[in-house]
Amino acid sequence: MVRAAVQVGPRQIELREFPRPQVGPDDGLLRVEANGICGSDVETYKGHMGVHSGPFVPGHEPMGIIEEVGERAAKRWGVQPGDRVALEVIVPCRACHKCLTGRYQSCPHRSIAHGVTGVDVEPSLYGGFAEHLYLTPNAVLHKIDPSIPAEIAVMFNPLGAGVRWAAHLGGIGLGDTVLVLGAGQRGIASVIAARAAGAGTIITTGLAADEHKLALAREFGADHTLVVDGDDAVDTVERVREITDGEMADVVLELTPMAAAPLTDALLAARHGGTVVLAGLKGNREIPLRTDLIINRALTVRGAFGVDAPAYAEAIALIESGRHPLEKLHTHTFGLEDTALAIETLAGEVPGESAVHVSVHPSS
Ligand SMILES: [Zn+2]
Ligand SMILES: [Zn+2]
Repeated sequence: MVRAAVQVGPRQIELREFPRPQVGPDDGLLRVEANGICGSDVETYKGHMGVHSGPFVPGHEPMGIIEEVGERAAKRWGVQPGDRVALEVIVPCRACHKCLTGRYQSCPHRSIAHGVTGVDVEPSLYGGFAEHLYLTPNAVLHKIDPSIPAEIAVMFNPLGAGVRWAAHLGGIGLGDTVLVLGAGQRGIASVIAARAAGAGTIITTGLAADEHKLALAREFGADHTLVVDGDDAVDTVERVREITDGEMADVVLELTPMAAAPLTDALLAARHGGTVVLAGLKGNREIPLRTDLIINRALTVRGAFGVDAPAYAEAIALIESGRHPLEKLHTHTFGLEDTALAIETLAGEVPGESAVHVSVHPSS
């Protein structure tokens, strides 16, 4: 049997056992070493995401060791039992026009998503908060050096976001001034990626309660950190004007959840011809936007949906390089039975705990 954390309703997670999946020639079985937690896990836990119709195993950032793999799957994936791999969330069909032209994240034939698919779909084990995860034939795998501590290796997901947003969508070039709005784990990951991409000046914003995260952002390469609320709040746009001598930012990343004001700040803080990447979801609300700013400043505004294979590959290379003290980002490790507590800790609901990167380690 395989133990898994199953979400059965808002804020309701229970441990259940499922039969260990049988592996055929085209599929495999992963022993989950670690699964990271992000803001969307918190929203899902609270019941805000609305994509689940029944019980499911959450956890969409799984990483672990190949325990069993079918003969054809081993060839297709290029893996053997004992290899460590990270999984992408989406399982595309790999054959339709969208898949073949690199837009596999919008594959219309994707049926399975890790951490989303319900337990009614056999063999039920599609989420990372479980001792084992079923590797369905079209799963997208990335190998990671097994000698790296699990809580660091599992940062492939937030770092992948940083690479995708800062380097790929932001197109950061040597010496560019970069403004990162938001200092969560993905904000800090964006600072790391911006540094690696050759950014000049990096400015990060955060809330007064996020001082520990802003300190980490400075440690990973932010030159200026701005507190935007409370008694010492500064005006982000004015500070960027001062710091850049009026040149403003080449690239702005808007990563704040829910808040509307940072969107306008992002447009105002970008230079003429600059790029603004939007990755902070606002709960599907309609938000007033000064579109004249986009026109008059000739801005490129890009929406960031998920992380793709090239970004994961570069993020894993960043991790394997050992050049960044990523252990400083990791604050909490939990066992499978404490999955709910892990999510609440990242959510900031546990008094006295300041979380940045939190992971659940189901099979340790
Ligand atoms: Zn996530
Ligand atoms: Zn497809």
